Amino acid sequence: MNYIFLGMPGSGKGTQVELLVKKLNIPMISTGNLFRKNIKNETKLGLKVKDILEKGDLVPDKVTFEMMSAEIKNMDISQGLILDGYPRSLRQAELLKDILNIDIILNIELSEDQVLLRIGGRRTCKCGETYHLKFNPPQKEGVCDKCGQELYIRDDAQEETIKNRIKVYKEQTEPLIKYYGDKVINIDGNPSIPEVTEEIFRKLGISD
Ligand code: ADP
Ligand code: AMP
Repeated sequence: MNYIFLGMPGSGKGTQVELLVKKLNIPMISTGNLFRKNIKNETKLGLKVKDILEKGDLVPDKVTFEMMSAEIKNMDISQGLILDGYPRSLRQAELLKDILNIDIILNIELSEDQVLLRIGGRRTCKCGETYHLKFNPPQKEGVCDKCGQELYIRDDAQEETIKNRIKVYKEQTEPLIKYYGDKVINIDGNPSIPEVTEEIFRKLGISD
């Protein structure tokens, strides 16, 4: 089975994707993580997309699709795949359709107010792990539980950028909910992290 996560920035996609990956033991791709890795390593792609991410705009569809499809080619997806952050536009969904069949879309619903609170307290590790100062703090302040590296605040966490990301989500990504129709499973993103996980597992028919 191949899965997509939809939901506003900060709605908890990355957090739940990590947990589902562990449960199902299948690989995932986070296009946001891939872009951030390229920016950190100052690759050609990284230099090209740095300003776009800082503004909270979308990287052009073709560039994103090429990066994502190149990643898929190097993976064993025979047991399935989870996509976090792709597709983010109708064009990206159309491009994806030709290389991968999507079975289920998990759409995490959360209000704008909550999204702002979540992103405000988010702390990220270069290894991909995500924490929250209040809702999911690391055991040792400022340090990743998983790999011991220092946590950082993402460059796109400024208020103006977040507002733009929400606007971009509504204009370009939200139409995907209609596009995928009855493949979409809505998930209430308001409860605690384990409660949201529980709802996802229950709706997917996976036992805890
Ligand atoms: P997204 O990938 O959708 O941008 P994240 O998974 O990075 O969202 O979550 C945003 C922030 O909210 C992170 O700091 C994360 O630890 C926190 N978070 C995620 N899910 C919940 C939840 N159910 N309750 C409280 N905080 C959460
Ligand atoms: P994320 O980590 O999913 O919040 O993504 C961070 C940023 O990476 C976004 O605000 C975009 O600038 C860029 N990005 C990630 N995925 C995509 C995508 N599918 N299409 C275009 N831009 C993307």
